[in-house]
Amino acid sequence: MRVGFGYDVHVLTEGRKLLLGGVEIPHNRGLLGHSDADVLLHAISDAILGALSEGDIGLHFPDTDPTLRGIESRKILAHAVGLAGAKGYAIANIDTTIVCQEPKISPFRKAIVDSIATIASLSPDRVSVKAKTTEGLGFAGRGEGIAAYAVCLLEG
Ligand code: MG
Repeated sequence: MRVGFGYDVHVLTEGRKLLLGGVEIPHNRGLLGHSDADVLLHAISDAILGALSEGDIGLHFPDTDPTLRGIESRKILAHAVGLAGAKGYAIANIDTTIVCQEPKISPFRKAIVDSIATIASLSPDRVSVKAKTTEGLGFAGRGEGIAAYAVCLLEG
């Protein structure tokens, strides 16, 4: 077994879609990034790559590569999952926490779980999505950005 941890942050800005776990969430702002800026899928992808000791998504999808501009983060996660499979590992489970003051995540939690499960070819009962505010503290509390944490266990 191998365990991996991932963390990511993106800035919230006007004029962008808000994607979390591959689900578009209605909000007045979205996350800024070279890709579609899906902070949750980035954290999960980094957790899987971390478990494999394969660096991080910046190594596999450099933001200096203009051909990757606007890349869908589901492709990044699918790449990490494929790499795990190629190395003889299956994902046992993924646990995540989204940190944001708003929007409220709970109405979308099930859709996000199902989306991640579909992208990673997993049963939804192997995927956990939780959301926390920071009681108004820090960049997440001020609504300046959204952070995500993820842990992934691989079985070989
Ligand atoms: Mg990112």
